[in-house]
Amino acid sequence: MKTKMWKIHNQALQEAAQCLQQGEVVAFPTETVYGLGADATNEEAVKKIFQAKGRPADNPLIVHVHHPIQIRQYVEEIPPLAQKLIDHFMPGPFTIILKSNGKAAHTVTAGLDTVAIRIPDHPVSQALLETAQLPLAAPSANLSGKPSPTNADHVYQDLNGRIAGIIDGGATGVGLESTVVDGTQDTPVILRPGGVTKEEIEQVTGQLEQNKSFTQVEKQPKSPGMKYNHYEPDAPLQLIDGSSTFFQQQINQYHKEGKKVGVIASSPLSEELQADDLYVCGSSDHLQEVAAKLYYALRYFNDKPVDIILCETFPTEGVGEAIMNRLTKAASSQLAE
Ligand code: AMP
Ligand code: MG
Repeated sequence: MKTKMWKIHNQALQEAAQCLQQGEVVAFPTETVYGLGADATNEEAVKKIFQAKGRPADNPLIVHVHHPIQIRQYVEEIPPLAQKLIDHFMPGPFTIILKSNGKAAHTVTAGLDTVAIRIPDHPVSQALLETAQLPLAAPSANLSGKPSPTNADHVYQDLNGRIAGIIDGGATGVGLESTVVDGTQDTPVILRPGGVTKEEIEQVTGQLEQNKSFTQVEKQPKSPGMKYNHYEPDAPLQLIDGSSTFFQQQINQYHKEGKKVGVIASSPLSEELQADDLYVCGSSDHLQEVAAKLYYALRYFNDKPVDIILCETFPTEGVGEAIMNRLTKAASSQLAE
């Protein structure tokens, strides 16, 4: 299959929408990461997403709609607190899980009796949803297990030849996926940290129980995607939790073993480290910036001659929680001082 690359203009949206209506899959930008969309009511179309990504069939997809009013078309009920969350955070980097009424394709929900719904807050995703007049099932547009794509080139690298087309809408803003919240219970539970922080959600709901599983890989998690490896760069990634002296000692040790070392660090730490190659992912005072650059960083070393990538750790406050959740999953080991 030849993968089309559309630059943004009206004709492109029409063509992409037509592909979607014909049951093809199309990648498009959202404010979090690029999504790989297909008609969420068409089983065959949704299967193509799983095939293109190599995604395990038991990992359900998020259904994207363009207005809160459409949520009711796919769910049995919206409990009051879930409605409050919808009012506050949608559109935005926020996904709500509700009891499914069975209208979304069986493959979308992986057979669960719940469905995940999001309203992307990005002009291109909004325009595409409106033009196609379809709910779009859309996971991140990367090969399963790889870092999520934050620009159209990343999508191309992973999925060229496997999908009908890519809408190039430039770099995404948030850079990390949505926060997934189970809204079926009286008290909402955060299943995956993301673009909306726990602190922001608690301003609406009051204090939430800490979900201890964020940084663990569980066998039977409530959100099936949590049990798989994710976001892995080509070279092994090791997280380094300690001072700049400790960090440099680890680099030197790998050098003694004849290994080439790539480093991902934010400033000011990055200024104190000497490695074979260094990716500066913003400043540690601005974790939003680190979030926006994280997946670039994880892909940056893929065509570089490094044997190992070392990355600093971040405080798990605000968006730092989502950053550390992704880094812990991407890493094959962690060293603390
Ligand atoms: P992504 O692969 O980035 O699109 O992430 C979607 C996340 O939402 C994965 O972790 C899924 O397992 C999770 N998810 C989607 N639908 C449901 C659902 N009905 N119940 C629980 N988790 C879900
Ligand atoms: Mg993903």
